[in-house]
Amino acid sequence: MRFEKKVWLSSPTMHGDEIKFVTEAYETNWMSTVGANINELESLVAAKVGCKYAVALSAGTAALHLCTKLAGEALYGMPKVGEGALRGHKVFCSDMTFDATVNPVAYENGEAVFIDTEYDTWNMDPVALEKAFEIYPDVRLVVLVHLYGTPAKVDEIRAICKKHNALIIEDAAESFGASYKGKQTGDLGDFNAISFNGNKIITGSSGGMFLTDSKEDAEKVRKWSTQSREAAAWYQHEEIGYNYRMSNVIAGVVRGQMPYLEEHIAQKKAIYMRYKEGLKGLPVAMNPYDAQNSEPNFWLSCLIIDKEAMCKQVRGETDSLYVHEKGKSCPMEILDKLFAMNAEGRPVWKPMHMQPIYRNHGFITAQGNGRARTNAYIAGESVDVGADIFARGLCLPSDNKMTPDQQDAIIAAIRDCFT
Ligand SMILES: *Cc1c(COP(=O)(O)O)cnc(C)c1O
Repeated sequence: MRFEKKVWLSSPTMHGDEIKFVTEAYETNWMSTVGANINELESLVAAKVGCKYAVALSAGTAALHLCTKLAGEALYGMPKVGEGALRGHKVFCSDMTFDATVNPVAYENGEAVFIDTEYDTWNMDPVALEKAFEIYPDVRLVVLVHLYGTPAKVDEIRAICKKHNALIIEDAAESFGASYKGKQTGDLGDFNAISFNGNKIITGSSGGMFLTDSKEDAEKVRKWSTQSREAAAWYQHEEIGYNYRMSNVIAGVVRGQMPYLEEHIAQKKAIYMRYKEGLKGLPVAMNPYDAQNSEPNFWLSCLIIDKEAMCKQVRGETDSLYVHEKGKSCPMEILDKLFAMNAEGRPVWKPMHMQPIYRNHGFITAQGNGRARTNAYIAGESVDVGADIFARGLCLPSDNKMTPDQQDAIIAAIRDCFT
C-alpha cells in the first residue's frame, strides 16, 4: 500500500491563532525585530519553563552559540576580537545529536570532545563523562542534549559537573515541554536553549530562545543578538555583535502555537504508546526513558532492533547496503519500506565522533578512550554505544496529524520486514 498524502516524520501543525498574531504585526507595521509578539512570547515561554528570563532569537543554533559565548567568557574572560570565547579549550559534548549542538563550540574556537551515549535514555553517559574528567581534568564546560525529547540523566551529570567545577549548556531544542523530576527542560543547565524550527514540537517556521535566571546573562544575550549596540545616540560598539534577534512576525507564529504545546505532546505520546503496543512481539524496543523521574515530550518515536534480529547491513559515508534475512531486518530495510509507502522515517542521529568533520576529536566511552578502539569498529563490530544505536536504531513517522489507520499500516509494514 502507498499513502496518497505523505506521512511526515514531524511536520508543522498550525491552529489559526498564529495568523491572527502575524496579521496584527502586519497591520500595526511591527514588521521588525521588536514588537508585542516578541515580548508576549518571551513571557509565555519563561512562565512555561519556570525561568526568570527568555530571550527570543532567530534560531536554536543562535541560542546555543550565545550560550557557548557566555560560558566561554564566564570561564576564560572576555576574548580579544577574533580570538573566540573558548580559545582552544576542550568542551565535553553529547555525541549522539544533531550537529547544531556542537558546532557553536567551533564557532568560539573551542574543541569538542564527545562523550558516549547510555542505553537508558540515549543521552550522555554519566560513567563516560566521569571517565572524560579523569582523562581531561581541566575541562570546565559540558554541552548536554535531551535527545528526541527524552530528558537525560540530569542529576548524575550535574553531580559530576559540580564535583569538577564545570558549567552546563543545556540543549533542550528537541525537548520543549518535557520535564525531569518536576522541572522543565530548558531550566536545568547554567545556560539553556530551545528551538522553534519547523519540525520541533511547536514552531515559528524558525526561531529559538535563550533561557536563564540571570538578569545579567539575559541582557548580554539581548545586546549581542542585536549587534552589540551600546547605549548611545549613534552606533557605538565595544563588543562583537550578531544579528540573531527573532522577528516579530515569527514570534507571532510561535505565540499562536503556545496554547497547543500540551496538545501536541499528548498526540506525540499517544503515537509513541501506539507503536509500543503495535510492535509487541517483534525483536525491537522503543527509544527508552526514565518513567520514574522524567516525562518526555515524545517528539520523535524511535525503535531499536535486537542485536540477534539484525540482518546484514553496511554503511559507507553516504551509501548503504543490506541483505534481507528471514525473521530479521535492519534500519535501512525498514526505512526503504516506509519510503516506498510514502512515509518518512530517518536513521537516528549519526554520532558526532563518526562524522568526518570531527574525526580527529576526542571521544570517550565508559571504558575510556573510544578512539583507541576504533579499529574494532572498522572491522564491523560496534565498540561504543553511539555507533551501536546508530546501527540498530531508526526514527519512525511521528507526525501528530498521522491517523491511527495510517499508523496501523506503518506498523504492519514494519512487521512485514521481519517475515
Ligand atoms: C533543532 C536542533 C537544534 C537547532 O535548532 P535550530 O532552531 O534549527 O537552529 C539544536 N540542537 C538539537 C538537538 C536540535 O534538534
